[in-house]
Formats: sequence, C-alpha cells, structure tokens
Amino acid sequence: MITESHCHIDTPPFAADADAVLERARAVGVGAFLVVGTAMATARRTADFARWHPDVLATVGVHPHHAAEPGENPSPETLVTLANELGAVGLGETGLDFNRNRSPRAVQELNFRHHVVAALASSLPLVIHSRDADDATMALLDEADPGRNLSGVLHCFDGGRKLAEFGVERGLLVSFSGILTYGRSDSLRDIARSLPLSSLLVETDAPYLSPEPVRKQRRNEPANIVHTVAMLAELHGVTANTVADITTANFDALIKAGLR
Ligand SMILES: [Zn+2]
Repeated sequence: MITESHCHIDTPPFAADADAVLERARAVGVGAFLVVGTAMATARRTADFARWHPDVLATVGVHPHHAAEPGENPSPETLVTLANELGAVGLGETGLDFNRNRSPRAVQELNFRHHVVAALASSLPLVIHSRDADDATMALLDEADPGRNLSGVLHCFDGGRKLAEFGVERGLLVSFSGILTYGRSDSLRDIARSLPLSSLLVETDAPYLSPEPVRKQRRNEPANIVHTVAMLAELHGVTANTVADITTANFDALIKAGLR
C-alpha cells in the first residue's frame, strides 16, 4: 500500500471530480492520503475534505506564500486550537520560500517560527516547505528547536545534501515528489539514493509537479505517485512494493507520534 503524504485535492482544480481522482489512486494501490492545509482561510475546507473520506487525513497550517495575507500568520495558540477542533493530524505546510518570495522574508520566518512552537507544544508533526532557503530553514530550526524535539517532514524535497542530512539527523522525514523523476534531477537522485529508506516519504503535491512520464498532464493527481515510487525503488535497488510499505510505515509512525 502506498501512502500519498502530501496533496491538495481539496482545492478548486479537483472540485468537479475529486472522487474519481481518489478512485484512480486507490486503483493503483494508494491506501491513504494526506491533504495539506495552506491557509487559515481554507482550513475548514481542507478538514472537511478529510472528514468526508475515510482514507484521507488533513493538516492545518499557513504556507509561506500566504503568510502576509489578512487573517493569516496565526499565533501558536490559534494553530493548536484550530488543529484540535478540526481533527488535524499535523501542522503545516509552512516554512520558507525564497524562490518566489510572495511574502516578505521576515513574515515567512515569523509564520514558520509560530508553527514550530505550535508543533512542539502539541506534539503534532510539522509539514515543512523549504524552497531556495536551505540555510535559513536550518538556522530557524536550530534556533526554534534546540532540543531537536520536533517531528515532521521536509516535503517535496528539492534542496541540497546538507539540508537533507540535517533533517535525517534531527529525525525528520524527507519526502520526494515527481521532481525526483525529472531529467535535471541527477543530484537530487544522488541524495535520495544515499538516504535511508526509513527516513523517506513519497508524495505528489498534486495539482502541481506531474512526474515523468506524464509530465505534460497539467493537473497532477495522486495516482501518478507510482512514478515517484518506481524511481525511488530503482535508486535503492528494491521493489516498488518495498518502497510503498516502508514509506507507509514511516508515515504511520509520524502520525501516531502526534496522536500520543
Ligand atoms: Zn503542498
């Protein structure tokens, strides 16, 4: 069984056919889905989507792109309260995106720090988005979590080796998306090959980042996760089923730790 650890199938691109999308994924072996929150404004929609589907779980959090919008950038207390109220199994996605810089960096960092505080206070795992921000992500985690108590995942990993190894040392998981299948991703594949399978997750980040060989699909969907699973299996010299089982066990342990 494959666990799709990060997707946005509660969003408008899937409004017309989400159930068919889920069915196609189940048909290729996906047994659990995590829909990941990106804003306070849409937190209830994301949680409702999970409530309506027994194999879907949800998180609550504010993506760095939304951190400067009105009503976003919640306090740690607000995040924990909302997560409890909505039955979220984790916090995020949050973090730093210095690629698009849709929010000022200082606001992104404050928002990220609040999520780290909330995750530590609640023991919920944190879904971390880090894009072109390896050093700043490591610095903030070192500063906000000096005891290394945070559990969570570096999602849609596309950073450098140093960030990946930093995450694994801290007990964070590293999640690979369709980026792993792209022609340009030789160095990312080298990193994925060198990390222990016990530290990895797989995801699509749908509707974004369709993998090869279906990269032309403008709307990615969870069924396409099989291509990332296959790539990871090839890199580690194991079967796709082994990758599916180990990454599912990693995900279950992550979520259970938060529910303790
Ligand atoms: Zn995402």
